[in-house]
Amino acid sequence: MPELPEVETILQSMKPALEGQTLSSIEVNRPDLRLPFPQGLSTIPLHQPVTRLRRRAKYILIDFQHGWTILIHLGMSGRLFINPAGENLPPRKHEHLVLWTKDKNRIALVDPRRFGMVCLFRTTQENQQPQLAHLGMEPLSSQFTTQTLTKALATTRMPIKNALLDQRRIVGLGNIYVCEALFKARIHPQRAANSLNAREVKRLHSFIIEILQAAIAAGGSTLRDYVHTDGQPGAFQNLHLVYGREGESCSTCLTKGRIVLIQRMTQSNRSTFFCPHCQKNPHK
Ligand SMILES: [Zn+2]
Repeated sequence: MPELPEVETILQSMKPALEGQTLSSIEVNRPDLRLPFPQGLSTIPLHQPVTRLRRRAKYILIDFQHGWTILIHLGMSGRLFINPAGENLPPRKHEHLVLWTKDKNRIALVDPRRFGMVCLFRTTQENQQPQLAHLGMEPLSSQFTTQTLTKALATTRMPIKNALLDQRRIVGLGNIYVCEALFKARIHPQRAANSLNAREVKRLHSFIIEILQAAIAAGGSTLRDYVHTDGQPGAFQNLHLVYGREGESCSTCLTKGRIVLIQRMTQSNRSTFFCPHCQKNPHK
């Protein structure tokens, strides 16, 4: 599933194709994805300049000058492909939504498993959208500080791993980047969120930002379905230190001459990868 760095990578490559452009046609090729496609999707956004593309959590938002916004969520397997004007189109299956700009750029949403979502609403109604209303802070915004992170974690005894995945606290951090950030910050994933001391919160805060920025710079992580808008995979999966590395030696321990194998456990039905030496559980 695309996480924040993957969605941000897609967003950045969509900007040149869409911002300031006007849509000349919108093909809606089936009635629904996870939700029905909204009424008016193929007509309301037409012939209006796109003023801005933005991201909120893992949602892509396309704002139009006449005050409407298209929201796109890629779900599990959704991909967006951009074909610049004049490019020969490779045949693709599962193109459920195709946007054409007046300049003949073609942006296609492909989603074989159809867990994705497209919504259309008035931009002023954004905060009332059920998908957006309860979202927490953006980890790459100025709102995300050691103070706000401390506050977000102080109110819960749930495991820190789960607290970081909770979109009502911090958005966009999925399983991969939470595992990587906790490893770098040397915090055991089962620690109670409100048990972290000030030094640990500070480390966690800076590593969350560092890892997300590094992942965006590498074009995101490709494990299964995610690709860039030109079909190329991301490269950050090669830089994962613990995620997907069960049974491999911890690279940090190795530099200190210790052989410690990365372990996997299950938390809330999702795999957690960690180093039992670097990330000690003080309660065990
Ligand atoms: Zn280690």
